[in-house]
Order: sequence, then structure tokens, then C-alpha cells
Amino acid sequence: MDRVDDALASLEADGRLRDLRPVEAVDAVTVRWRGRLLKLFSSNDYLGLSAHPEVRRAAAAAAADVGMGPRGAALVCGHTCEHDALERELAALKGTEAALLFPTGFQANLAVLSALGGPDVTFLSDRLNHASIIDGCRLARAASVEVYDHCDAADLAARLAACETPRKVIVTDSVFSMEGDAAPLRQLADLAEEHDATLVIDEAHATLLRGPGGGGLAAELGVSDRVQFQVGTLSKAFGAQGGFVATDARTRRWLLNVARPYIFTTALPVPVVVAARAALEVAAGGALRERLAGNSRVLAKRLGFGGDSPIFPVIVGDNAAAVARSVALLDKGLHVPAIRPPTVPPGTARLRIALSAAHEPADLDVLSAALGQG
Ligand code: PMP
Repeated sequence: MDRVDDALASLEADGRLRDLRPVEAVDAVTVRWRGRLLKLFSSNDYLGLSAHPEVRRAAAAAAADVGMGPRGAALVCGHTCEHDALERELAALKGTEAALLFPTGFQANLAVLSALGGPDVTFLSDRLNHASIIDGCRLARAASVEVYDHCDAADLAARLAACETPRKVIVTDSVFSMEGDAAPLRQLADLAEEHDATLVIDEAHATLLRGPGGGGLAAELGVSDRVQFQVGTLSKAFGAQGGFVATDARTRRWLLNVARPYIFTTALPVPVVVAARAALEVAAGGALRERLAGNSRVLAKRLGFGGDSPIFPVIVGDNAAAVARSVALLDKGLHVPAIRPPTVPPGTARLRIALSAAHEPADLDVLSAALGQG
């Protein structure tokens, strides 16, 4: 137990100790905490679909009809017709032949990267990639993992040129979760082709948000057909739970036969799959995407940000100072998390403000005023 005490003491001294705060969900952007209502600027429910009436109705009906459903791994008995239909719909969204569902986006990254691994491969991974990509690269037991500078195609090119393994895998978030910026996917696709490398992108923060019909950043930039693996999650803009990878039919078949984070886990519950299908249908209209874009433009102008991301990193630097600002906002009924290392690099602790289509103009007014940018 000394080890546990030492670790906790060291995290506390570092301003990195974290704790859970049990809240009651009220709606897509509101929770109740200790009897008070808090407005969320911390969730990834970008389109407000977690609480959309049609999503609720569909999920509730599925639960009433079949209960939870899967009862086993997908390859045993857990892959229902609803799972199959959602995979087809996700493939259509991404413009690929096929898609494969996972219990989480984290597992989708672990599965793809571990399946691509081996002693004859080098992974080239953006410095600010998500933890699930970092862990996927570790699980891959590759010859080496080259971490290139954030969104720096020149650094990537130099590392590719120096690569000695027969196989290479380039992996990147498309939109970065803690920065809100976008990877240079066209340049990455060019480099992948030039060096005969496989390109894996994680569209967790871009699916349903970017590109025609919400197909993602690769679709927006017209490079979908040059990306071999498009990973996504159902836990953000879909407002549900789960992950997926969109790819060709042969590769899907390979993955479901070899990827251990796919094979040895229980499939998603049916009401969750049905919720994701309903969310996809609601999002197809595009109205929620436009509402989110409108909210993002308003806040970007007030806070002096460029770009069109719903993610606003307000860099504070010091861990304790970031926590103090987050607590001050909480006192005003605003839930804006302080994000600290290891989620972000040391010295870049920040408030991460994330907007939703479900925010009303008045919510943005209260937030801007509290940040002193009214
Ligand atoms: N990739 C990225 C870029 C993410 O931000 C996240 C979630 N924080 C994940 C993957 C994991 O997705 P999930 O929550 O569905 O496991």
C-alpha cells in the first residue's frame, strides 16, 4: 500500500490528483450536482444527440423489446441484425465498403493498431495523438514507434525517409481532442503513398461534424479513398457509446479474425446500437451541425479564436492555476474541466471548452461573461 500512498501524494503535490464528481444527467448540456444545476461545457455530445427525443424513444423501445441483447462476443452470438445495419450505415457515411463495430473507440484503436503490428513495422504517430493510439502502438510490439512533431508533415517525411522496416503505419487524430486543430490529411496521404505506408486516422472528433453529411475530415478534404482505416466513435457526436472502423470488406474480415480487442469482448447492447442508428438519422438533416457551427462562430469571435472548431483550449499553463479557474467557473454554475498532464503535455494545463448544438445563446453569454469576454 506504500506504493499507492506514494503515488497519490505525488499526484497531489503535482496538482494532478483527480476525483469523481457524481452528477445527475438533466439534458444534453445540463447536470445536477449537489442540488445545483450546472451548464456543461465539458461534454463531447457535440450535437446534443444523447438526449434527443427521437434517440431516447428508439433506445427505450429497443430496451423494452429485447432488453440489452448481445449476451456474448460478436463472433459468438452478440452480433445482431441491428449491429449489422449500423455497420452498413456507418460504411455509407464514410464511403467505404464496410465497417466494424467495437464496444468503445478506445478498443477500435487498440484493435486496428495491434493487428497492424509486428517486428517488421514502424509506427509514425503524431505527438498529440489520443491515449488509445499511444497504447495501441505499444500493444503492436512494433520495431519502433516514431513520434513526429504535431501536424508537422516535414518532420514526418524525414522520419519516413529514415525508416528501415519493410512496413510503415502513419497514425493520427484527424481533429485533435484537446487542441481542436486538424491534421494535414492531404499531405499525410501524399507521404503515405510516396513511402508505401498504411494510413490510419481517428475521426473521433470529426465524424458527424465535418465533411459532407458529417462523413468526417477525410471526406471534407476528399482523401477518404486514400485512407486505409477510418476509426470513429459513437460516444461523441453520436451521443451514444461504442467505436468503429470503416475500411474495405476484406480488411474488415481480417480484423474480426485477428484483432483481440474485438474477438474477446462482448458486443454493444442493442439499445445503444439502436440509439446510434437514430442519432445518425437525426444528424443526417444537417440542422444540428449548423447550429453547432453557429455557436462555435459566436464563441470564437468573443474569445479571439480562429477556425471553426467547437473545441476551445484556453491554455493556463500551471496545473493548480487551471484547477482554480475551473473551480471559480463551477461556483458560477459552469462545468468547464481543467485538463492536466498526462492528457496534455506538461506546462499546458488548460480549460477545455466544448460546445454543443444544444447550447442556447444565453448559455454562451453566461460563459463569455464568466471568462471576462462578454
Ligand atoms: N480517440 C479520440 C481522439 C478520443 O478523443 C477518444 C475519447 N476521448 C477516443 C478515441 C476513445 O473513444 P471512446 O470514448 O469511444 O472510447
